[in-house]
Amino acid sequence: RAKLAGGNRYQVFSEEMHLMACDRLSLEVGLRQAIERDEFTLFYQPIYRLSDNRLYGFEALIRWQHPTQGLLLPDRFIPLAEETGLILPIGDWVIWRACRDLQHWQEQFPQCQLSVNVNLSNRQLMHPALAEQVLAALEQTQIPAHCLHLEITESVSIDQPEQVRDVLLRLKAQGIKLSLDDFGTGYSSLCYLTHLPIDILKVDRRFVKLITETEQKHLVIDAIVSLAKGLELEVVAEGVEHPYQVTRLRELGCDYAQGYYFSQPLSIEQVDVLLAEMHAT
Ligand code: C2E
Ligand code: MG
Ligand code: MG
Ligand code: MG
Repeated sequence: RAKLAGGNRYQVFSEEMHLMACDRLSLEVGLRQAIERDEFTLFYQPIYRLSDNRLYGFEALIRWQHPTQGLLLPDRFIPLAEETGLILPIGDWVIWRACRDLQHWQEQFPQCQLSVNVNLSNRQLMHPALAEQVLAALEQTQIPAHCLHLEITESVSIDQPEQVRDVLLRLKAQGIKLSLDDFGTGYSSLCYLTHLPIDILKVDRRFVKLITETEQKHLVIDAIVSLAKGLELEVVAEGVEHPYQVTRLRELGCDYAQGYYFSQPLSIEQVDVLLAEMHAT
């Protein structure tokens, strides 16, 4: 009996695995077509300066308008894109799209001096063409280099640190700003800080979450902000959802914040409305 049950379980398991493999395969086929069919789109989450509550810029966040499954978030397809190498053409598209969108907003609202943040995968950082692609996008769109911020994450270890460092130094020499995303969640946060030419720290939202209404001491976030100040880096808090978090972050000397308290990621049309409203007041 036990053997029979075991046998059945095995059967079910392998069917599940088969389904998973099919799922993956159709996702991969879909991803390849998505580039040609222009199914990706960028949403933009506003980032605010805490000292004066002014809009500072946007983080570009990719979405996939899937033909049958609706709007897919990056967690659904970026890991597979990274695995298959499709992140290279996708990432190149993101850089171009974000620079063009910023160019458009800067032309329409020149007094805003907005910046745009673009997330990079490690795979892009390791690719020899990255610097050319970024510099070409800047030249073509004529946006000032300091308005482009590249976000790199420490969540995956970098295999060739010297090569990555050289690429980042080259980009930085042109005036591009470099952000360390999800700070505090990786294995090697402090190694990254000392080894890579970072300008801005983005404190991961799990630390911002520790700021509650009743808790008076926020040692971890306090320490991260102090560390950033000591290293002369600017600090952005991610995932800010409550007004008391804004108050506390401002008191701690955090420079910028983004999160649902301020705004969800917005479509292009919503950004146009936001900027037009700002301009009108
Ligand atoms: P991330 O770069 O850390 O982006 C912040 C994520 O937090 C976004 O999720 C955003 O929608 C979400 N978020 C913003 N405010 C709040 C908040 O107040 N509360 C909570 N709970 N979440 C908030 P999203 O858009 O699903 O993106 C997830 C991740 O996918 C990003 O994390 C980034 O690592 C990656 N990603 C997004 N776009 C790209 C891209 O163009 N290229 C690459 N390589 N990765 C991307
Ligand atoms: Mg990011
Ligand atoms: Mg982040
Ligand atoms: Mg994150």
